[in-house]
Amino acid sequence: MTDETIFDKIIAKQISADIVYEDDQILAFKDIAPKAPVHYLIIPKKRIATLNDANPEDQVLLGHMMLTAAKLATEAGIAADGYRVQMNVNKGGGQVVFHIHLHMFGGRQLAE
Ligand code: 5GP
Repeated sequence: MTDETIFDKIIAKQISADIVYEDDQILAFKDIAPKAPVHYLIIPKKRIATLNDANPEDQVLLGHMMLTAAKLATEAGIAADGYRVQMNVNKGGGQVVFHIHLHMFGGRQLAE
């Protein structure tokens, strides 16, 4: 079992977050330090530390996270213009919170 993170507390509603989507598998909420006008984090309720720790049994869950990112981009009105979906993996990839999450952000022109 991996260590608990701040995201477990958000899932358990022990600390507040601006939640934009929730079902039995995943949660999506606004990033506390947005890099763009729209910046959501999509996380599984299942604790998986990094993408390296995901298993074949997580395939449907990971796909659900991706499709939810697209759905939320559409709902936020940024899908046609364009947005970015990103997952940072481990320290070298810029990961700070060790509970996998997709960043979905847009609403401005994104540089490379
Ligand atoms: P990472 O660098 O691990 O890919 O991204 C972690 C993200 O989580 C960062 O963009 C950071 O702003 C966000 N974050 C960290 N703590 C909190 C929190 O307590 N609430 C919310 N809403 N976002 C958080």
